[in-house]
Amino acid sequence: MLQVAIGLDIGGTKMAGGIVDFDGNILYSHTVATPAEFPDLEHDLMWLVGHMLEAASGKGDSPVEGAPFEVVGVGVAVPGSVDRNQGVAMRAANLPWQDFHICQMIEDKFGVSAKLENDADAAALGALRYAAEARGIENFVFMTIGTGVGGGIIMNGLLHGGPWPLAGEIGHIIVEPDGAQCNCGTKGCLEALASGTAIGREGTQAAKAAQKGKLWETYQEKGEVTAADVTQAADKGDELANKVLAEAGRYLAIGILNIQRLLSPQAILVGGGVVTQSDALLRAVDKAMPSLHPDFRANVLQMKGGSVSGVKGAAAIAWEEIAKKMSHKV
Ligand SMILES: [Zn+2]
Repeated sequence: MLQVAIGLDIGGTKMAGGIVDFDGNILYSHTVATPAEFPDLEHDLMWLVGHMLEAASGKGDSPVEGAPFEVVGVGVAVPGSVDRNQGVAMRAANLPWQDFHICQMIEDKFGVSAKLENDADAAALGALRYAAEARGIENFVFMTIGTGVGGGIIMNGLLHGGPWPLAGEIGHIIVEPDGAQCNCGTKGCLEALASGTAIGREGTQAAKAAQKGKLWETYQEKGEVTAADVTQAADKGDELANKVLAEAGRYLAIGILNIQRLLSPQAILVGGGVVTQSDALLRAVDKAMPSLHPDFRANVLQMKGGSVSGVKGAAAIAWEEIAKKMSHKV
């Protein structure tokens, strides 16, 4: 019987489930809206798990080709902070839970093993297994630059978890003491200075100060400038947009060089909405490097858009568990 993992990618607006084989083929998937409150959220999540298991057993309403499958485990990717050892989603900005014991609940109800990770760590695992950019690389740091800045550390082909939930929280490395206020309570974190939110904020401010040019036109049209507006304008050679990115890129370069010093990974993979569609920010990082160190470099690789879905990253959590069990046996 073909072995499969079930991946659940839980976000603020939708919950996606997928049956994923070892090679990363999604054999079946289903998505539902994320209810805003308990107990609906718990109910719908458990329904989704049940639905995926039924589909994997070949007994569902719409038969899945090749089923029945042997389910090796369930991997759950959630935003926010997690207790990976207990399988608990602790807190997330846009979700109503507080210490939500997801894995225990799945195991009690369905008798299948479940593991949970923060979504950036899940994306790192997904990149390790399934991204073309990471092929042949077993030591890398993954960064995702979107609304916030997330990260995950892959060492010797395994996720570096650590006993506490905060390993790999690259977004909260301080790169400018007394810099912009961060959501975590500190000032000058990478997330406060180089995330999509920060780039949009700085782009808006720069547009308002300039009162002319592409970003100013965008601001007048929409009342704000987003990170996508800034990278698009920079790609067309807009000077002000490039200036905004030079600032964010310098902070990112500081973070990247510190990571390189600490872990010396083979590569730093950068994904997330701000960089998958444009390499404007990474060009700025490249430009900033020599001013920080004359000849010290990091191997920064751009993750192109759509390379690894959230569901595959979630399934990779379950495959990671199998890999760990195998390595413990040796
Ligand atoms: Zn922070």
